[in-house]
Amino acid sequence: MAGAANPTELSKTTPGTLYVISTPIGNLDDITLRALHTLKEVDFIAAEDTRHSQKLLRHFQIQKPLFSYHEHNKEQKTPGLIRQLLDGKCVGLISDAGTPSISDPGFYLIREALHRDVPVVAVPGVTALIPALVVSGLPVHRFAFEGFPPAKKGRKTFFENLAGESRTLIFYESPYRVLKTLADIQHYFGDRQVAVARELTKKFEEILRGTAPEVAAQLEQRAIKGEFVIVVEGVNKKMLKEKASDEG
Ligand code: SAM
Repeated sequence: MAGAANPTELSKTTPGTLYVISTPIGNLDDITLRALHTLKEVDFIAAEDTRHSQKLLRHFQIQKPLFSYHEHNKEQKTPGLIRQLLDGKCVGLISDAGTPSISDPGFYLIREALHRDVPVVAVPGVTALIPALVVSGLPVHRFAFEGFPPAKKGRKTFFENLAGESRTLIFYESPYRVLKTLADIQHYFGDRQVAVARELTKKFEEILRGTAPEVAAQLEQRAIKGEFVIVVEGVNKKMLKEKASDEG
């Protein structure tokens, strides 16, 4: 590649920078060379669950001080992390899986760092929503990621507000609520094509496609285990016309 910058040069870390590093969501081979390089270079790593991340680091033979940083200690831990960054330390931020701050801790620290003019650099990699979207077979040119639907409070409004959305919708869901969410998708959105991606990048990866009741029926035939992304077709003109004629 004539003229391309030396990748190792580009991967060098800069003192006083917060590196937001994506890690695999199952298959450890999905870690990037740059993520490994950065994890080795930073002074220390702020991790959502230090025990979980220690296993990842051990697998890649990386020895680095780990500090816990999660939803319940973020306000207490952020000032100390910012002080270290302002003192010129290089800090890596990782979560249990995928990209920090995507339905994971990170946003609060990133925003505070930027307020204090600390450079923030993403070391991109895996996030569960993108592979789920691309294999869903649903339109990818416009989509809306909605994270986890609220478990109770605000759930009805959440789905009602999305019923008129024409972009493809993406939700994260736990195994305990995936059937309930599929039932609500049918209830609030009507007949739509849905894809449920289970255990992406792992041994039992599977993608179930159909309407929400069809996918729920497939899921009910097995033990509902693992991690799920639900992708839902957006509303289109034909559906709106049918709805209008049903109502009128
Ligand atoms: N930060 C992560 C990311 O970048 O995708 C998401 C973390 S969030 C706490 C965890 C949720 O992501 C799971 O409940 C599931 O909805 C989704 N997820 C994570 N790994 C997955 C996988 N291997 N297969 C399917 N969904 C997954």
